[in-house]
Amino acid sequence: MTAIDSFNFNGKKAIIRVDFNVPLNKETGAVSDDTRIRGALPTIKKVLADGGCAILMSHMGRPKQNPDPKYSLKQIISAIESNLGTKVQFCDDCMKADAQVAALKPGEVLLLENLRFYEEEEGKPRAEFATDEEKAAAKKELKEKQKEFAKKLASYADVYVNDAFGTAHRAHGSTAVIADYFDESSKMFGFLINSELKAMDKVLNEAQKPFTAIMGGAKVSDKIMIIENLLDRVQNLIIGGGMTYTFIKALGGKIGKSLCEDDKLELAKGLLDKAKAKGVQVYLPVDAVNADDFNAEANTCVSKTNETPDGWMGLDIADESIKTFSEVIANSKTVLWNGPMGVFEMDKFAKGTSAIAHAVAQATANGAFTLIGGGDSVAAINKNKLADKVSYVSTGGGAMLEYMEGKVLPGIKAIRGY
Ligand code: AMP
Repeated sequence: MTAIDSFNFNGKKAIIRVDFNVPLNKETGAVSDDTRIRGALPTIKKVLADGGCAILMSHMGRPKQNPDPKYSLKQIISAIESNLGTKVQFCDDCMKADAQVAALKPGEVLLLENLRFYEEEEGKPRAEFATDEEKAAAKKELKEKQKEFAKKLASYADVYVNDAFGTAHRAHGSTAVIADYFDESSKMFGFLINSELKAMDKVLNEAQKPFTAIMGGAKVSDKIMIIENLLDRVQNLIIGGGMTYTFIKALGGKIGKSLCEDDKLELAKGLLDKAKAKGVQVYLPVDAVNADDFNAEANTCVSKTNETPDGWMGLDIADESIKTFSEVIANSKTVLWNGPMGVFEMDKFAKGTSAIAHAVAQATANGAFTLIGGGDSVAAINKNKLADKVSYVSTGGGAMLEYMEGKVLPGIKAIRGY
C-alpha cells in the first residue's frame, strides 16, 4: 500500500475524496461548522506543497436531482479558501471537468460539484418502481453506469487519495469503485483516514488493560454488533442512555414508560450472559433522573433504575451511577465511548453525559488512550469543550461504528485490500 507521507506529488494531479458534507446556516448559507474542512487540510496541503494540484470531490446532503442548488458545493468555496489560504476553482458538473482539469497548474485547487447530483455516485436508483424485479433491474443497470462514473472521475488524475472517513463504509463511486482505475502505487489514504485507522486499531488490537467501553444512546439494536465485538476485548462495559432500560427490564426491573425495545429483551439478556461468561464486568446505571414527559420542562424525580415509578421515564443517569462510572473510567488505560448517557440535548438531562465526558478527559490526563466516536458523544465532548482533552475524536459516526463492529469498510478495502 502506498503511504501518503512518503509520496511525492510533484507534477501530479491528485483527485482527493474529501468529506465536505458540512452543515450550513439556514439563514446566511454560511458553513456553520467547518470541522470536516479542517480535517482534510493536511492532505490537501501536502499535495500542494509537493508541487501537485488537487482536485477535490465530495458529497453534501442528500440531493434528489441534478442540479440541486440547495446542496451545491459552490456555497462552501469561501470556507475552503479561508481555511486553505489558496484560491479554489469550481467546476459545476463533476462529469464535465476535462477542460478545467487540463488547465490546472501545480499548486492549484479545483473543487468538483456535489457528486451525489448523479445517482451513479451512490448506485441507488432514485425513481419509484412498481415491482421489486424492476427495482433490482434498475439497480443492476445503475451499478454498470457507476463504473463509468468512477472511471470518468479517475480519468482526471494521476493519483487517487481517499480522505473521506465519514463515507468509508459506503461502496460509492468516489469512495470505492474509483480505486479500481488506479494501480497500487497511485492510490492511498489521506492523513485523516490514516489517523482514524490508527486510533481505532489501537483500541481494537493493542488496547492496554483495563479497557472500558462506554455504550450509550437510544437503542440496543443499533449497538448490538459493536458490543458483541467488544466483549472479546474489554474488561469493563458501561451501559447508559435509553438502551439501559431494555437491559433493566430483561433483568426483571420496573422501568415505567422508559424507552424499551421489547423485542430485544432476550438479546439483552444474552449479551449480559455472554459478558459474564467472558469475565467482562458490566456496569448498568443503578439510579436515574426520571421525567414525567419527554420534554425539556418536564417534572423530574430520581429513583433506582429498576424501580422507575409508573408514568415516569428515565432520561439520565443519576449521582450514584455517575460516581461508579467515573471511578471505573478513571482507572482505565483504554476507553472507547460511543453514545450519550441521557437526553443531553435537554439541560435537565445532560448532567450524566457531561460527567462522563469529564471522566474520559480525566482518564486521558491519567495516561489512558481515549477514543470518542459517534455523532452524539462527539457533540457531547464538544459541548463540554473537551475535544482537546481526549486522545482522539473520530469524525465518522457510521464508519467508526462499522469498523468497531469488525466489518470491512468498502472505502478502506478498496485501497488496502481488507
Ligand atoms: P444514538 O444515536 O443511538 O447514539 O442515540 C443518541 C440519542 O439517544 C440522543 O439523541 C439522546 O437524546 C437519546 N437518549 C439518550 N438517553 C436516552 C434515554 N434515557 N431515553 C431516551 N432517549 C435517550
